[in-house]
Amino acid sequence: MSTQSSSLRVAIVGSGPAGFYAAEALQKGMPGIAIDLIDRLPTPFGLVRGGVAPDHPKIKSVTRIFDRIATQPGFRYLGHVNVGTDVTVEELRARYHVLILCYGAETDRHLGIPGEQLAGSHAATEFVAWYNGHPDYATRAFDLTQRAAAVIGIGNVAMDVSRILAKPTAVLAGTDLADHALQALAASEVQTIHLIARRGPVQAACTTPELRELGELEGVDVVVDPRDLELDPASEAELAAMEDRNPAKNLDVLREWAARPLTGAKRQVVLHFNASPVSLAGTERVEGMTIVRNRLESDGKGGVKAVATDETKELPVGLVFRSVGYKGKALAGVPFDDRRGVVPNIGGRVVEQADSTTVVPGVYVAGWIKRGPQGIIGTNKLCATDTVTQVLADIAAGAVPAVADDVSTIDALLAERKVRVTSWADWQTLDKAEQERGAASGRPRVKITNVDEMLSIVGAGA
Ligand code: NAP
Repeated sequence: MSTQSSSLRVAIVGSGPAGFYAAEALQKGMPGIAIDLIDRLPTPFGLVRGGVAPDHPKIKSVTRIFDRIATQPGFRYLGHVNVGTDVTVEELRARYHVLILCYGAETDRHLGIPGEQLAGSHAATEFVAWYNGHPDYATRAFDLTQRAAAVIGIGNVAMDVSRILAKPTAVLAGTDLADHALQALAASEVQTIHLIARRGPVQAACTTPELRELGELEGVDVVVDPRDLELDPASEAELAAMEDRNPAKNLDVLREWAARPLTGAKRQVVLHFNASPVSLAGTERVEGMTIVRNRLESDGKGGVKAVATDETKELPVGLVFRSVGYKGKALAGVPFDDRRGVVPNIGGRVVEQADSTTVVPGVYVAGWIKRGPQGIIGTNKLCATDTVTQVLADIAAGAVPAVADDVSTIDALLAERKVRVTSWADWQTLDKAEQERGAASGRPRVKITNVDEMLSIVGAGA
């Protein structure tokens, strides 16, 4: 079970923030350690590229840190390699002493209401991936000829989706929003965006800067019903007990909006608190949504829960975005906790099943697939560092498995399977090409959204 640290090899699956921060922590703990960072796309950075809103460029500047990590000795980027199809987890475990899974939370949670599967009802995560030019979603279509849309949930993804729908395209045109999305949004006829929050303003999951942005959009009125801001006793008690100042600040913003006269702007964002969707109507596509009024009460555990009343209301929406959270997916050869949508682990060490303490030697997790889809980019630094602390402790204790095969066999295996592995240098070529395309139109970049085109640009032939 022991190995020479100088010959240690680590594979990290997923090149989002958790993957890069795990690489950084390993490099700090064991300079020069051989790390292969594997991603299924030729383009790195996970949700920093495919999730962070295009009009939030400062958040994306974290990639400068990732660039530095990628140029450290011992680091390789193995892009365009799909773990699970191009190579299995077992094959990786046979070639690397340590495997750190950082593949995030790729799917979305469902509402479980009638009509959810109708055309025009989408996961917000798909819309986000589409406007950010993720190759898997670039050809999706969203019917923006509809006059009214609903966004369900009031987290930061709901803020992003509502803002992108409401924001003037002239402003978005200066961002790296995917070209296909820019064209579609320029022709959008969406005028009303209903934001549906199942609980009250105190429980809204969004952060204040993101909420505030909605009220600062040109040509947009935000509609808040002052009655929604009258707090029930459970919310009053929760607010008073909270150390987090975010809910109080959100409430201040909402009160300011409720007092603000409407301007008759072209677009409206209408907030509905204490409301849950109960069904979507329509035969072939969404033609409306029924929402029910909730009352809030203590959940007996210090929190507040929504309980449906019998008061319902119809909203004539033709487009629905379910923004109720991401969900992790199972990966063959790795235990999975289906209920939580995470790989079961103790402090980052993967265990055989959710309630087990038996670790799977040499296999670790970090990021959303470790702890669930919560937190900002920086949260993953702490999360990945905690995991790597366990990795380093296991290495020191000789508790990572010895591996028989030389690392060159991974290259040979992928070559034999005709997987065109793309390198960090290939990404730099793509990055340059995207920036050059953007420069012509005064944009930070124009994203390449097709994998064959990416491969042809890096010289692999389509
Ligand atoms: P989130 O913050 O967990 O918000 C999910 C929302 O969906 C909550 O309002 C939740 O309400 C609601 N919800 C869940 N199940 C529901 C149901 N069955 N019916 C109705 N509503 C339901 O998730 P997210 O917005 O996907 O964001 C994921 C993470 O990424 C968050 O940590 C977020 O802060 C982060 N993020 C950050 C930024 C940024 O910093 N700019 C941007 C995007 C995302 P309840 O509270 O009642 O459960």
